[in-house]
Amino acid sequence: MKDLTGRAALVTGGARGIGKAICLELAGRGADICVADVIEAGDAVAEIEAKGVRCIARRCDVTKLDDVAAVVKDVVDAFGNLSILVNNAGITRDNLLMRMSEDEWDAVLAVNLKGAFVCTKAVVRQMMRQKAGRIVNISSVVGIFGNPGQANYAASKAGLIGLTKAVAKEVGSRGITVNAVAPGYILTEMTETLDEAAREAFARNIPLSRPGADDEKAGTAEDVAKCVAFLAGDDASYVTGQVLPIDGGLAM
Ligand code: NDP
Repeated sequence: MKDLTGRAALVTGGARGIGKAICLELAGRGADICVADVIEAGDAVAEIEAKGVRCIARRCDVTKLDDVAAVVKDVVDAFGNLSILVNNAGITRDNLLMRMSEDEWDAVLAVNLKGAFVCTKAVVRQMMRQKAGRIVNISSVVGIFGNPGQANYAASKAGLIGLTKAVAKEVGSRGITVNAVAPGYILTEMTETLDEAAREAFARNIPLSRPGADDEKAGTAEDVAKCVAFLAGDDASYVTGQVLPIDGGLAM
């Protein structure tokens, strides 16, 4: 299904994990891709181009307005449009509140929440000119129900939900939709470091099993990518300001 042909997508944190899976899924549906990440895109570019679309990769820190403005200009220069923004870049700096440093708080809020603000602000004028656009924010179930040891991360992800709804109301009249997805327990490098107790806690609370999968209770980056692609495509053109959990029922 090549329903995104002719549209350019900017995916932050797109070099690995969920972001890379989103790039590949959008590319598979025909979108040209800009991978924007603080790390090198590496093999991601060749894998995306193998889907038959154009791809550029830019080193970019989403907290820096100048970095992001330059990337947005590069996307429009290279592809002639900027139709899809996926605010995916995210970090964790876990600690109990009593021990959490100001730096741990500030770092997470800066990347996860301010980064989405910076990128959204940078693309919205172009999308308004086009009278069309899709913005998808990668929140988390933790932003819905909280998690001990993640006050900074949960606050940032809850903040993203507020940002999603406020901006959806501001830009809806220009044909731009803004939605969020809230992944649960997804197997990536970010969750690789979870201890056995944390994995068991997830497994106990996730109603859905997928017998035969390596980890029957866990989601995959591809699960998230497919939902993002839905929200980025025409099938979701009447959906805005929503939060779609992708969590096997964890946040029910
Ligand atoms: P990864 O850490 O695997 O990938 C995130 C990417 O974003 C990394 O390449 C990272 O670089 C990059 N990044 C970090 N800071 C910045 C920055 N300032 N500017 C640009 N890029 C940056 O994470 P996941 O793929 O697991 O997660 C992707 C998103 O999904 C995140 O927003 C995360 O919070 C969210 N999520 C993940 C879940 C999971 O279970 N994995 C569950 C719910 C939500 P670097 O390696 O240098 O940090």
